Amino acid sequence: MTGTTGGSAAVEFEDVRRSFGGTHALAGLNLALRPGELLALLGPSGCGKTTALRLLAGFDRPTSGRVLINGHDVTDVPASRRDTGMVFQAYSLFPTMTAAENVAFGLRMRKVAAPERRRRADELLELVGLGDRGGSYPHQLSGGQQQRVALARALAVSPSVLLLDEPLSALDARVRVQLRDEIRRLQLAEGITTLFVTHDQSEALAIADRVAVLNAGRLEQVAPPLEVYASPATAFVAAFVGVVNRLAAAPDGPGRVRVLGESAELDGEPGADTVIVRPEALTVGDEGPGEPGTVVTRTFLGAVTRFVVATDGGEITVDAVTRPGLPDAGDRTVVRLDTERVRAAIG
Ligand code: ATP
Repeated sequence: MTGTTGGSAAVEFEDVRRSFGGTHALAGLNLALRPGELLALLGPSGCGKTTALRLLAGFDRPTSGRVLINGHDVTDVPASRRDTGMVFQAYSLFPTMTAAENVAFGLRMRKVAAPERRRRADELLELVGLGDRGGSYPHQLSGGQQQRVALARALAVSPSVLLLDEPLSALDARVRVQLRDEIRRLQLAEGITTLFVTHDQSEALAIADRVAVLNAGRLEQVAPPLEVYASPATAFVAAFVGVVNRLAAAPDGPGRVRVLGESAELDGEPGADTVIVRPEALTVGDEGPGEPGTVVTRTFLGAVTRFVVATDGGEITVDAVTRPGLPDAGDRTVVRLDTERVRAAIG
């Protein structure tokens, strides 16, 4: 490997561009992962996530720019020598090998002796909760178990970077959440720098130290989950990360606006005539200040009930704490602000 930087980043994309004919899959990506952090690369289909991951893994080369791992320029280093472990969407295990043989595969390639391979495979399978399934073949395992084996296989060679390409997308909702939390637990325990690619915003917010939101080959925001959610840097981030209402606002003294008939502190650009309000910052009531409307849909989500309310100003999505006496579809209701602070809309 050649070329080092003085930086302390574990992974760096330096002005990375990747074009396919006229399509700019990545239009100058600058992104650094700190040692031991889990960074979720989040964005809609076609935004360039997989391209970034493949460039880091070494399966593809940038049109221009550099990729660095632990300060070493790996742009020209082949995938097999990059010291990365990868978990794909699904069905990536070798079907004719047992779980233990799958986990030991990378060690065999590295000429690790058989007894040590067996020991390490057992240790890793134990770590992912499959200590007793080493002799099973992939077709004898559930989707979630197969992904655990894939994770064990990726970790077996102690890579310096773990790459996860939508590893949960083929699993059903319950297993998805379980495995997501286990990935996070293992990642923290091993302290391994991880790039987690996903199009699922709730997954990204739940698992990551920081979320990088990618749109059409460009980064829109890189920040901790709460910041991305509460203070979206762009209109795209606001709309992509969770449901957001755009509501009309009028000035109401210094640093304040009137919205839905109430006064609130304004975060962001003074004098904004549109603010963004998350559904959980609203509630529905029978009377009082607020915007009257008619309930279009009511969806029970557990701790909260989601309402879509048609008002003169358009439809508003509200997540009200579930309680007796909430209105039904077709009922008249009043949408009210349930927060002291609103954020000026961007773009
Ligand atoms: P998805 O979530 O659907 O996998 P993505 O965010 O991972 O999407 P990429 O696969 O990175 O997106 O693709 C980014 C853009 O580059 C898309 O417009 C895609 O069509 C294009 N692209 C990717 N790979 C190739 C290729 N080998 N040849 C031509 N175009 C490509």
